[in-house]
Amino acid sequence: MNSNRTFTMLKPDSIEQGNMLPILNMIENAGFKIIALKYKKMSKDEAEKFYSIHSDKPFFTDLVSFMTRGPIIAAVLEKENAVEEFRNLIGSTDPLEALDGTIRKKFAKSKGENAVHGSDSDENSSIEIDFHFDSNEIFS
Ligand code: UDP
Ligand code: MG
Repeated sequence: MNSNRTFTMLKPDSIEQGNMLPILNMIENAGFKIIALKYKKMSKDEAEKFYSIHSDKPFFTDLVSFMTRGPIIAAVLEKENAVEEFRNLIGSTDPLEALDGTIRKKFAKSKGENAVHGSDSDENSSIEIDFHFDSNEIFS
């Protein structure tokens, strides 16, 4: 059965470029309910842990320094079939491949600095939500 929750981050590029509210608007307009929200800066340790699945990739060092150079917005989103629906809304990792109407098509500048994160499975959404939020910070 599909979970009705997913996890997202608005990455530092989105905040720097003043796209925080337009992106949150797109998320709400697509029918997601924001049930938790946090404005924070990740430490190097946190970013390395969050992206540990990519630790052996050539882009890992750049990814960690990008994700820690400024604040992010972390959020938990609720919608039926949330993980898949949100991956559809954000579009491909590389904005050149992202479809019209997706967040990355509209706001991402490159494959690395691509505006938003979205969980890729129910298992990972649960891990990522727990990484950033206590249960009493989620308002379902
Ligand atoms: N990334 C990168 N170069 C790549 C692939 C990924 O810099 O060739 C970065 C990018 O910020 C991406 C993140 O690493 O969003 C995680 O990669 P993943 O393949 O999980 O992409 P996503 O699930 O975010 O679409
Ligand atoms: Mg991923």
